Amino acid sequence: MTKKKAEPLFKLRKSRISGRGVFAARKIRKGTRIIEYQGERISTAEGDSRYDDDQGEQAHVLLFTVDKKTVIDGGVNSNEARYINHSCDPNCEAIEENKRIFIEAIRTIQAGEELCYDYSLHRVEDDEGDIEKRYPCRCGSAHCRGTLLEPKKSKKRKRKSAKKKS
Ligand SMILES: [Zn+2]
Repeated sequence: MTKKKAEPLFKLRKSRISGRGVFAARKIRKGTRIIEYQGERISTAEGDSRYDDDQGEQAHVLLFTVDKKTVIDGGVNSNEARYINHSCDPNCEAIEENKRIFIEAIRTIQAGEELCYDYSLHRVEDDEGDIEKRYPCRCGSAHCRGTLLEPKKSKKRKRKSAKKKS
């Protein structure tokens, strides 16, 4: 008896967001683990030296930060996950589990939709003023932040609450 091979969940296609993208080949249910972000595991320092920030965004965004010390270089020994584009209003999210990264559907995705997750590139203290422009977002969503960088951490200042005297 021959078993029919399950249809693949996704396929690569040209994306209107950026370059090639990954698209649902059939309906994907919320919570489905779609693919692991694979690549060579290297130190953060090694990642920084491999990809000079000034060379542009394409190289840099291949690095997936696992933790403070480790990044996954999606440019080496990678899989289709590297083609998943960023969106500020994504249908997937990246889940870390035992230092591995998996892309999962956060809602039901219809066949033909482009898969995307929020890259939320880490900001570092010595980021220059134009850093957001160097990593522009063109996701086109209504809530677009305009950048692939993570939202700015709002400095929580303790507000002196004016005590109301009753
Ligand atoms: Zn956006």
